[in-house]
Amino acid sequence: MARRRQIYEGKAKILYEGPEPGTLIQYFKDDATAFNAQKKGTISGKGVLNNRISEHIFTLLGGIGIPTHFLRRLNMREQLIRQVEIVPIEVVVRNVVAGSLSKRIGVEEGQQLPRTIIEYYYKDDALGDPMVSDEHILCFGWASQEELHDMADMAIRVNDYLSGLFAGIGIRLVDFKLEFGRIWENEFSRVILADEISPDGCRLWDMASGEKLDKDRFRRDLGGEVEAYQEVARRLGLLPEDGDTPVLDLDSHRKLRGK
Ligand code: UDP
Repeated sequence: MARRRQIYEGKAKILYEGPEPGTLIQYFKDDATAFNAQKKGTISGKGVLNNRISEHIFTLLGGIGIPTHFLRRLNMREQLIRQVEIVPIEVVVRNVVAGSLSKRIGVEEGQQLPRTIIEYYYKDDALGDPMVSDEHILCFGWASQEELHDMADMAIRVNDYLSGLFAGIGIRLVDFKLEFGRIWENEFSRVILADEISPDGCRLWDMASGEKLDKDRFRRDLGGEVEAYQEVARRLGLLPEDGDTPVLDLDSHRKLRGK
């Protein structure tokens, strides 16, 4: 089969031309980067897990009426998505102090926030994705007032839904990053959820042990990255409870589960 035309290659994913106009194929790589790509590595099997986890979460979000770019999963590493014009803003939602917030305000990680915080970062690798305010976004035209409102509204709905979903499987949703894209219908456009939702862009802490089940394992050299991602997939019901799978390392898996 002729290889499809590559549209874009990012740090963890590649986008290819889709089979129909207005569609793309999103390919999940095993590559991992952190600290604005200063740290690079490979987490073997990550792409397969993120493809499956993101499919599951986007499907659930679609079910509660959040519009997303996800159409269907094609195979272990690829999914068919709607082509969108990416809004150059990363929307970060925080429930608990961690990561850059902890550093910026000098508060220890783990403190529950009295209210959910939404932050915006301007997507620009050369600038290191600086944090910006809604004033900057409107002033420089990165998104309109209506789009900003819709993105914040969806971010809160996603947070409420996912906080409950993860709490039900013993995981604390500490923070996460969302990306949105514009789709055009005649001369009108609207924003829909794009990119992915996976342990690459979320902080997920085991409620009982506090163990990190996300990309911080890679960022902070904690090891056991793929086992942590597998654990998230397993608790979401996406891997068999017991028995082997192609990407399962049972020893570390048991260790992580405290067995
Ligand atoms: N995040 C992300 N991509 C980025 C920056 C952040 O997916 O380029 C996610 C990150 O995984 C975490 C949340 O957004 O779940 C908040 O990240 P933070 O601002 O604390 O930055 P970090 O500590 O990752 O540099």
